Amino acid sequence: MARVIVVGAGVIGLSCAVRLLERGHRVDVLARELPLETTSAVAAALWYPYRAYPQDKVTGWAEAGYRELSRLAAVEGTGVRMVPGTELLPSPAPDPWWAAAVPDLARVGSPPAPYADGWSFTAPVVEMPAYLRWLVRRVRELDGTLTRLPLPQLPRGAEVVVDASGMGARLLAADQSVTPVRGQVLYVEQVGLDRWWLDGAGLTYVVPRSTDIVVGGTDEEGVWDRTPDPDTAARILARATALVPALQGARVLRHKVGLRPARPAVRLEVERLGDRRVVHCYGHGGAGVTLSWGCAAEVADLV
Ligand SMILES: Cc1cc2nc3c(=O)[nH]c(=O)nc-3n(C[C@H](O)[C@H](O)[C@H](O)COP(=O)(O)OP(=O)(O)OC[C@H]3O[C@@H](n4cnc5c(N)ncnc54)[C@H](O)[C@@H]3O)c2cc1C
Repeated sequence: MARVIVVGAGVIGLSCAVRLLERGHRVDVLARELPLETTSAVAAALWYPYRAYPQDKVTGWAEAGYRELSRLAAVEGTGVRMVPGTELLPSPAPDPWWAAAVPDLARVGSPPAPYADGWSFTAPVVEMPAYLRWLVRRVRELDGTLTRLPLPQLPRGAEVVVDASGMGARLLAADQSVTPVRGQVLYVEQVGLDRWWLDGAGLTYVVPRSTDIVVGGTDEEGVWDRTPDPDTAARILARATALVPALQGARVLRHKVGLRPARPAVRLEVERLGDRRVVHCYGHGGAGVTLSWGCAAEVADLV
C-alpha cells in the first residue's frame, strides 16, 4: 500500500481520499482552503453533468456518481437527498447526451409557455456544507488526516500525489487551460418547494434544500471576481421567479460566488515527476459533485 498525499479538500480531493483509504492506502490531505471555504461548498449541488468534458467519459463518471449519491441518500448525516425535478427548454430537443445515466428520465407532456420541451427526472441533491463535513468525518474515521497548507508546488515526501487542486492547477500543474467560470447564487428561505427546476437555455436553476433554496445562476467565462453583484442577484431572482412563481416574495438569506474550474477536458491521468507519481484529477467545471465518485474510483485504480 502506498503513502498518498492528496492536494485539495474540495469534493474531488475528499472523495479521492475516501476511496484511497478504503483500499488501504495511507492518505494525508493538504489544502490551502478547508472544505467549507472551497468552490465545492458553493455548489447548488444538483446531480447534473454541466460544463464538463469529454462527453463519453463524463457520462460514465456521472453514472457512477448517480449510483453512489443515490446510495448515500439513504445514509444518515450525508446531506444527500433524492429530489424530483424538471428541466425546461425553449425549443424541441433530442434526449440529453447523459440520458443513459438517469433511470427515470421522462419527457414533459405539455411544457408551460414559453417553453417547448423538457424532461423530468429524479436527481441527487447534495447539501454541500453537511456533505463536506460528512466526507471529512469519513476521512478521519478511516485514519486519514486533513491539514491546512498552502503549497507553492506539488509536495514531495510521498510515492504518490493526487492533484485535486481545482483552479489551483494553474499554479501547481502549470496548466493555463484551467479557467474560471464565475457562478453567482443566492439563497432564499424555504417556501415549501419540493422539486428542483432548471431552465437549460438561460442557466436559471432553483434547487430546494432542507432549510433553504439555492437560486442561480451565472456562467461568466474567465471572470475572477468573487464578490456577489447586487444587480446580477436581482436579475437571477427575477428569472428564477418567472420559472418558479412560488419564489415570489421569498426572503433572501445570503449571496455567494464560486469559480468553476473549467477545462476543455477533465484531466485524469498519471504523470511521472522524478521518483513520484502524480495522479492529476482536476478541471470538473460545473459538475464536480456529479462526477466526484466516478473520478475517485478511477484515481484509486490508477494509484
Ligand atoms: C455557483 C456554482 C454552482 C454549482 N453547482 C453545481 C451542481 O449543481 N452540481 C455539480 O456537480 N457541480 C456544481 N458546481 C461545480 C462544482 O462546485 C465544482 O466542479 C467542484 O466544486 C470542483 O471541485 P474541486 O474539488 O475540483 O475544487 P475546489 O472545491 O475548488 O477545491 C480545490 C482545493 O484545492 C486546494 N488548493 C488549490 N491550490 C492549492 C495550493 N496551491 N495549495 C494547497 N491547496 C490548494 C483548495 O484550497 C481547495 O481545497 C457548481 C459550482 C458553482 C460555482
